[in-house]
Amino acid sequence: MEIVFATHNQNKLKEVQQLLPSHIKLLSLEDIGCFEEIEETGDTLEENAWIKANYVYHTYGKACFADDTGLEVKALNGAPGVYSARYAGEEKDTSANMQKLLVALSQEQDRTAQFRTAIALRLSDQKKLFEGIVKGSIANKMEGKNGFGYDPIFIPEKYEKSFGLLDASIKNKISHRARAIHKLVEHLGQSL
Ligand code: IMP
Repeated sequence: MEIVFATHNQNKLKEVQQLLPSHIKLLSLEDIGCFEEIEETGDTLEENAWIKANYVYHTYGKACFADDTGLEVKALNGAPGVYSARYAGEEKDTSANMQKLLVALSQEQDRTAQFRTAIALRLSDQKKLFEGIVKGSIANKMEGKNGFGYDPIFIPEKYEKSFGLLDASIKNKISHRARAIHKLVEHLGQSL
């Protein structure tokens, strides 16, 4: 089957493609001629995932799933959360986001955090939501160039190094997105 993953982010597309069985062919937004930015105006990860999945389904008539991810830091009451991409401003500058977070936590003992992903699936006859979480902590400084976003400052539970330093194969096994995608794939396998 063909299914659209509603993202313009090539890193995410590549990551998710590796997690899918070969009989599920992933189409990007570009593949279906969608070059516009879909506004993420929701107050929660779940709302944003639905906004994107519903937009593609209604505008292009394609089976679709969409994700939204947030980094939730305990000492900051779950911030930056749904605002992770623009934590330091509308420019969505990754380094500035990480820098702002490191400053916000500079006096904090508790650096516990988690990445949480919500995935909304929109098929012609069904709508379903999936969640994936990876627990961990925020490092004291940025380290490593692997991955993207906050990866250089996120150390997953049971590891000593940030996602920025860990091999992509490790991240792909334990990440928030991988966990949510596995649930999605299991569901697609059962329902198709
Ligand atoms: P999105 O919903 O996937 O676009 O992610 C929102 C924000 O969370 C972006 O600023 C990303 O940089 C960040 N983010 C999402 N997934 C990851 C990840 O796997 N590692 C690090 N940061 C991520």
